Amino acid sequence: MTKISELIEQGPTLSVEFFPPKTAEGLEKLSHTLDSLETLSAPGGAELSFVSVTYGAGGTTRDRTRDLVIGINRDRRFPAMPHLTCVGHTEGEIDELLGDYSAGGIQNILALGGDPPADGSEVTGDFDYAIELIDSIRAAGDFSIGVAAHPEMHPRSASLDADRRRLAEKLSAADFGITQFFFDADDYFRMIEELEVLGCDTPILPGVMPMLNPGTVERFAGIARAKFPTDLANKIEAAEEPEERMAIAADAAAALTEELLDRGVPGIHVYCMNRSDIVEAVLERINGVSTKT
Ligand code: FAD
Repeated sequence: MTKISELIEQGPTLSVEFFPPKTAEGLEKLSHTLDSLETLSAPGGAELSFVSVTYGAGGTTRDRTRDLVIGINRDRRFPAMPHLTCVGHTEGEIDELLGDYSAGGIQNILALGGDPPADGSEVTGDFDYAIELIDSIRAAGDFSIGVAAHPEMHPRSASLDADRRRLAEKLSAADFGITQFFFDADDYFRMIEELEVLGCDTPILPGVMPMLNPGTVERFAGIARAKFPTDLANKIEAAEEPEERMAIAADAAAALTEELLDRGVPGIHVYCMNRSDIVEAVLERINGVSTKT
């Protein structure tokens, strides 16, 4: 079974997100990370369900994302899903990439808006919003399609009401959602309730970001306008040894993961920053679940 929508039906799933490394050394490291993840056991005893690979803004990692995802999907025992963004792409470019994915055996795609260029230059391309990619993806093959959800609302949304209506419409056209990271479980469940009121019950995987590097997470939270837990960050910064920092970050991520699972989420998506040790550390703390098969 390699369609993520089907894996979610059997859930809870465990997934991790990678970025495509720039160097041969980075790729080698990622290969070791994937080796470790192949022997992980997810909450409830299941194996790692899938991995996803990010796509650089405006297509800057186009070939690296494509080659990595097709390789993992072919060689590993879990499916790999590419992220795909609208920004800067023509319909022809998107169709060509989708053709490569279809030919390469990929069955899942995460359809995203993408962020406008950081230098403020004009946004070009044939697609403005993630929902517009969904038709192209459906036309290109039998893919299971995921989309992004922002529990604390997308920073470019004019109001919470507008955000939830657009999100409900997008999720209803897709097969599943994955959230931006957040640190308060109530934010996720409030979003789910608001979507239910709009008649949307598409499953949404919560994204959990272990705070390995507080500075980076604070920067990401600033971009996403997500709440940032300063107390936790200070505690991590104050720890002297790397092992202690890792333990504090893993404790916090495990507590959030456990609360989410207890309250019935369909799975957990971990922003692992290309490291398997943090995924193992989090799982070790959840209900005594063994991390190795
Ligand atoms: P959209 O769904 O397009 O929404 C963006 C904004 O437009 C929202 O405010 C929405 O309400 C509004 N909107 C939607 N449709 C309409 C409409 N028809 N008319 C008017 N307004 C509308 N970025 C990357 O560059 N690469 C990645 O690999 C990547 N991976 C991600 C993975 C996850 C799980 C998440 C949560 C985000 C990821 N991002 C990535 C970031 C994402 O691209 C940005 O958050 C981006 O700003 C919006 O993406 P979206 O898919 O939510 O956009």
